[in-house]
Amino acid sequence: MNKYKIALIKGDGIGPEIIDEAIKVLDSVCSKEDFELSYEEYLMGGSAYDVKGEPLPQETIDGCKNSDAILFGAIGGDKWDNLPRHLRPESGLLRLRKELNVFANLRPTQVFDELLDASTLKPEIIKGVDLFVVRELTGGIYFGEPREKTSDRAYNTMVYTKDEIKRIAVVAFDIAMKRRKKLCSVDKANVLEVSQLWRDTVIEVAKDYPEVELSHMYVDNAAMQLVRNPKQFDVILTGNIFGDILSDEASMICGSIGLLASASVGGKVGLFEPIHGSAPDIAGQGISNPIATILSAAMMLRFALGETSAADRIEQAVKNVLKDGYRTKDLAGIGGKEVCSTTEIGSIIADYVAKI
Ligand code: NAD
Repeated sequence: MNKYKIALIKGDGIGPEIIDEAIKVLDSVCSKEDFELSYEEYLMGGSAYDVKGEPLPQETIDGCKNSDAILFGAIGGDKWDNLPRHLRPESGLLRLRKELNVFANLRPTQVFDELLDASTLKPEIIKGVDLFVVRELTGGIYFGEPREKTSDRAYNTMVYTKDEIKRIAVVAFDIAMKRRKKLCSVDKANVLEVSQLWRDTVIEVAKDYPEVELSHMYVDNAAMQLVRNPKQFDVILTGNIFGDILSDEASMICGSIGLLASASVGGKVGLFEPIHGSAPDIAGQGISNPIATILSAAMMLRFALGETSAADRIEQAVKNVLKDGYRTKDLAGIGGKEVCSTTEIGSIIADYVAKI
């Protein structure tokens, strides 16, 4: 029987409550599948600062690096907003991603039929949307050198090497192969040399994936197409800054931030987390939606541990639970019959997982 070591970072705000529900669901799936998970908890973010005086203690880095995957809740909150930049919770997360060398950020966006009315877009535009953004996470303009700001001039450098483009393209093509085999690479090759190299390299990598239908789109058009006709997309491959913007835009298609999972992979150990933050405004009230975290746990099973049938089981259970009308408060009134607390919906999903 396979045994995996999971590092848990619950973090701040609603982090602990949503991670607890994900564990419930993982325990349920383990009881039906042929593998075991063991958990080790580590401090990070504001809660780490309160105890250790820093947002990312060395033992957290070491523990994460020695695990098979990391399941992460969320960090941050007003309480720590006035600390010097290097001590703020967010700095800890950026450093952890760097330490882990997770260069690929994966963000699926799927619209559940039962929640069509949760989006600000018209139901007929979003019905059936199932797209997957692959964003380069450790290069591009956010990290490029030289960079400088003086009182009257500032600049950043958008730089990618061929190797950086190749490795993220391979991740995206591999994902496309497991989906509908359509990949749209988004760049700005009409004006940026770095995008021209991006496009040339993606075309080169595509030769190893003859079954994948490759298209290219300029980022301004992609931003428009995402709200005009999001169904045209399967996998979107793009660089750091374009992906930052497009993945947030894509997330709004499905309505609630409490539903969206993400993964940061590419290094030895991957980081799996909901896309939302620590929601301090609702922390401790038992009304947060744990589904994004539960779906992040499913991504962890699929992408880090290769336990695809367990991942399928969780994703199917979430669909069934929404179909049967169970809703947390953020989705109350959207086709549901019953408003559940955080722990209630976690238990219901865990039960459904066991029944599939
Ligand atoms: P947020 O995502 O925490 O919250 C935005 C809004 O969405 C709030 O009204 C919140 O109540 C709601 N919301 C978020 N998640 C929800 C869920 N699971 N269920 C129901 N409602 C949910 O963003 P914010 O308010 O801008 O940030 C709060 C803190 O989180 C800040 O300190 C920020 O820096 C931090 N943050 C952390 C991460 C991370 O840990 N990866 C990401 C983004 C923001």
